[in-house]
Amino acid sequence: MMCMFFKQIKHRGDNFSYIIADESTKEAAIIDPSFNTEAIIRVVENEDFDVKYVVNTHSHVDHTAGNEEIVSKFKAKIVAYKSAKGNNDISVVDGDVLKLGAVIIKVMHTPGHTPDSICLLVDGKLLTGDTLFIGECGRTDLPDGSAEEMYDSLLHKLTMLEDSVEVYPGHDYGSTPHSTIGMEKRTNYTMQKRSLREFISFMGAA
Ligand SMILES: [Zn+2]
Repeated sequence: MMCMFFKQIKHRGDNFSYIIADESTKEAAIIDPSFNTEAIIRVVENEDFDVKYVVNTHSHVDHTAGNEEIVSKFKAKIVAYKSAKGNNDISVVDGDVLKLGAVIIKVMHTPGHTPDSICLLVDGKLLTGDTLFIGECGRTDLPDGSAEEMYDSLLHKLTMLEDSVEVYPGHDYGSTPHSTIGMEKRTNYTMQKRSLREFISFMGAA
């Protein structure tokens, strides 16, 4: 039977990192190590985890700043979407899976905030990076952002998931640190049904 360890860690600046592991094999992945890695390292050492992967939901520095420290300390491999810049050991695309013992992490490509944005689906939990926040979605007005791609990611990909899937974002911007797809579909204004044209105009993009 699969038994998963899952921990959300909040950093200053409202970034979230996540630790996922198989409790029996102790294989672990760190998602988005941010500027402050102390709390992550403490958990890994306390639990005696074997960190196999560092996974970045996209290549913005507040999600990758801790990569080098985690990799050099635990000899992990850096995983990112194939178009991500940087020293990545493993390139992934939509539908790929990463295994930690019996724990299976599925990659969903969800561009919009950046072209290399991915969400990670693991045991009924979706790690959404800067694609979907609680009550909000990621900015699309930064360099390489695309409101059109965000529309497709939110309204054609994430809305297809079961309502019960839990949402764990890359920043603590909402009223709660996590939510569900069903709750976001009901209450998040960015996930309401609308045309692409309406979506683009309300995202403030040209
Ligand atoms: Zn970002």
